[in-house]
Amino acid sequence: MKPLGPIPAGFAAVDGELAIGGQPVSALVEEAGGTPLFLYSAAMIRQRVALLRANLPKRVRLHYAVKANPFPPLLALMRDLVDGFDIASGGELRLALEAGQGPAAMSFAGPGKRDVELELAILRGVTLNVESAGEARRALRLAERIGTRARLAIRVNPSFELRGSGMKMGGGAKPFGVDEAQVPALAREVIAAGAEWRGLHVFAGSQALDAKAIAETQGRVLDLAARLAAEIGHKLPHLNMGGGFGIPYFAGDRPLDIAHVGEALAERVAVLPPELAEAELAVELGRYLVGEAGVYLTRVVDRKESHGATFLVTDGGLHHVLAASGNFGTVVRRNYPVAIANRFEAGAEEEVSIVGCLCTPMDRLADQASLPRAEEGDLVAVFCTGAYGASASPSAFLGQGPALEMLV
Ligand SMILES: *Cc1c(COP(=O)(O)O)cnc(C)c1O
Repeated sequence: MKPLGPIPAGFAAVDGELAIGGQPVSALVEEAGGTPLFLYSAAMIRQRVALLRANLPKRVRLHYAVKANPFPPLLALMRDLVDGFDIASGGELRLALEAGQGPAAMSFAGPGKRDVELELAILRGVTLNVESAGEARRALRLAERIGTRARLAIRVNPSFELRGSGMKMGGGAKPFGVDEAQVPALAREVIAAGAEWRGLHVFAGSQALDAKAIAETQGRVLDLAARLAAEIGHKLPHLNMGGGFGIPYFAGDRPLDIAHVGEALAERVAVLPPELAEAELAVELGRYLVGEAGVYLTRVVDRKESHGATFLVTDGGLHHVLAASGNFGTVVRRNYPVAIANRFEAGAEEEVSIVGCLCTPMDRLADQASLPRAEEGDLVAVFCTGAYGASASPSAFLGQGPALEMLV
């Protein structure tokens, strides 16, 4: 037996079945038109935003990292809940505009921005978080050609990284951001060239569950920003402090102590140095906002035995939930939280492995899990799939196509 991850708080049962927003998932599956299906709970997302607002200092703005989940109805919800969107491609920029997000509340990071993407952002007045000196100069040339001012911020490649981070994105040689030491000269260059100076962006890591590590990193980001602003010789208008707030996926993971993060940040924000005194401060979060609010539902197509092991074969798989299969940035495969959705209150009766319908041994949704007995037609729920699920999985693999999605 291998343990399952913890089912996020807030999921209830109706008539013994997993329910979202008071509706049993089998009814939602019918309404959506079948399986495989991602369900996203708007109520859980609202609660999460409220929790953040209650814990973070008032001064800190909340940005949503669109790459976590760009489903249009979810973006429309997020637009009303947060203070800005962070995007990382021209495609995300278009989705954000279609969701009604104002360009002034958007910043565009990400390496390898093409001229057409830079042009669209400049035309609309989106802040570009430039990832290199070359990109900054390209943006300046394009803005001049268009006859407008580019709004430019510099993404900094910090010399530190977020401790315990699931995905390392800072420290040492990186394709992301401009090395700390090169930032002041580049900032002075873009200011002198007439760009609208929008400050700095520092993203030091992702999926951290240790509140002390996050607080320590936020302190270092503020120190770094103050030092760079002093060297640049301009007060900082805006500082995107990154995020990295994680969620529990696996057995033994503990939820992030958000109260500690908020208290530590409040202490720092109360004594900001003059270089940062007028800066808008923002955190950018993806999975912490939407990850636990998403459930992937897939139907059991076949139940089979092989050499004494039981397999439930489903109509879904890694082509929709790559991360849950253990193939998205994990070293050792561990089980996500999984349940038999239509037997949500039944006790464990057997050890089974749940696999997807792809003809590859990588396609495993639960390995040797202890679950109620499930038959063909039953619904499997994979939790914590609201972020980096549908849009971060190879849905074209084996000709399967995308899953359905619904915001409840
Ligand atoms: C991916 C990404 C995020 C979001 O990370 P989460 O772990 O989903 O919170 C934020 N900022 C940048 C620059 C990113 O690349």
